[in-house]
Amino acid sequence: MEYQSVTIIGGGLAGSEAAWQMAESGIRVHLYEMRPHQKTPAHQTDFLAELVCSNSFKSIEPSKASGLLKQEMTQMGSLILESAQKSKVPAGKALAVDRTLFSQYITQKISSHPKIQVLREECTEIPKQGIVILATGPLTSLALSQSIQEKLGENSLYFYDAISPIVTTESIDMNFCFEASRYEAGSDYLNIPLSKEQYTEFVQDLMTGEKIEPKDFEKAAYFEGCLPIEVMAQRGFQTLAFGPLKPVGLTDPRSSAKPYAVIQLRKENQSGTLYNLVGFQTKLTYSEQKRIFQKILALKKAVFVRLGSIHRNTFIHSPLHLNPYLQLKSEPRIFFAGQITGVEGYMESTAMGLLVGRYASQFVKDKPIIPIPETTAMGVLIHYITSYPHKNYQPMNINYGLFPPLHEKTPKRDKKEALWLRANKDLSNWIHL
Ligand SMILES: Cc1cc2nc3c(=O)[nH]c(=O)nc-3n(C[C@H](O)[C@H](O)[C@H](O)COP(=O)(O)OP(=O)(O)OC[C@H]3O[C@@H](n4cnc5c(N)ncnc54)[C@H](O)[C@@H]3O)c2cc1C
Repeated sequence: MEYQSVTIIGGGLAGSEAAWQMAESGIRVHLYEMRPHQKTPAHQTDFLAELVCSNSFKSIEPSKASGLLKQEMTQMGSLILESAQKSKVPAGKALAVDRTLFSQYITQKISSHPKIQVLREECTEIPKQGIVILATGPLTSLALSQSIQEKLGENSLYFYDAISPIVTTESIDMNFCFEASRYEAGSDYLNIPLSKEQYTEFVQDLMTGEKIEPKDFEKAAYFEGCLPIEVMAQRGFQTLAFGPLKPVGLTDPRSSAKPYAVIQLRKENQSGTLYNLVGFQTKLTYSEQKRIFQKILALKKAVFVRLGSIHRNTFIHSPLHLNPYLQLKSEPRIFFAGQITGVEGYMESTAMGLLVGRYASQFVKDKPIIPIPETTAMGVLIHYITSYPHKNYQPMNINYGLFPPLHEKTPKRDKKEALWLRANKDLSNWIHL
């Protein structure tokens, strides 16, 4: 049977994976990739699915959520992971690849697939008709960004991320925090009070800590509304105490004292397993973030599921605009896939290409789409990007803190294994539906 063909824009990790999934299910795909005619500031080659930086796809261990994600993708026939297996280089417990062999293999498989036509052209606007998957990634071309902005509205497309660290709730020492919202308007935040001495040391550490140099195309990245915390510290001793660490409206109920400054942590998910350090977006290196933030008593043993960063990164406000199948709520013929949806990283982006490929195939065939269970690694990513409850939506990588809690009481040391087993079982059932 001949189905309607689909246009995929962006031949990166997500677009290539989506194209493969659709073509393998019998659907004709037109895959647009603007390189080499139009370059991005980070890509160096003409290959599809080029890796722009590290050659590692992180851990393969079950104890890490990134290991589970890769296992699920392999089970679902990921072309990207097939290529990674063929081009892998020794990297201990991580999966790392020879980047040239990796992208060459994918380029060859995609280009020679009878159902896929690769067009080396920039798409400057969202096609007005037909089924479209937008997978143009963190460096989406300017013209297309404008077209997306026109469709979604000005406040729904971002050009930089401003990521604050996230810690697991169970790793926070609650003896050094109190729950409260400013001016006694509830108890939504965890607050870590700082004395003048603690604040002084913290500001000093931020100023002297080692930072990552922004790349040339990222230099103009800072907006006044989301400056890196160390840049604020540099502006003056009191800047943070009048900014994100301001103590106004907060009294420590244990001592009835007004703290000199307060670090606020906000719930990151509805199940309350994760907390976000509000206003801590930063260009400090990962090791410096851990060193400096763990000097704060409440965070001494903090487990960071995400560390802070600021990058050039095009992404949309998915919770507002996408349904759980990553279709535009207002125009379901348009799907988004990859990093542009607000996931972060090679594998997370590929996973969102893989799922969209599956979902869009069902859509083309006019068959019901059965959503992936929210207990799987891919399911929790979809849940995050389509249901994040706060205004300040920022990209997310896969981590066990995102998973819905287990129903059974499970000792802490066995939790990850139990989450892994539950995900395995639920994915296997879903695949056969
Ligand atoms: C500088 C930098 C460093 C990074 N380092 C890492 C890292 O070390 N590890 C990690 O896990 N992740 C890293 N990332 C993130 C990683 O690149 C993404 O997670 C991943 O590549 C996203 O996959 P994607 O398919 O969504 O986008 P991409 O892989 O970027 O693919 C998008 C494709 O769309 C094409 N395109 C864009 N606009 C158009 C258009 N209008 N018409 C046609 N084609 C278009 C682009 O040329 C590109 O090939 C980095 C990102 C950047 C920018």
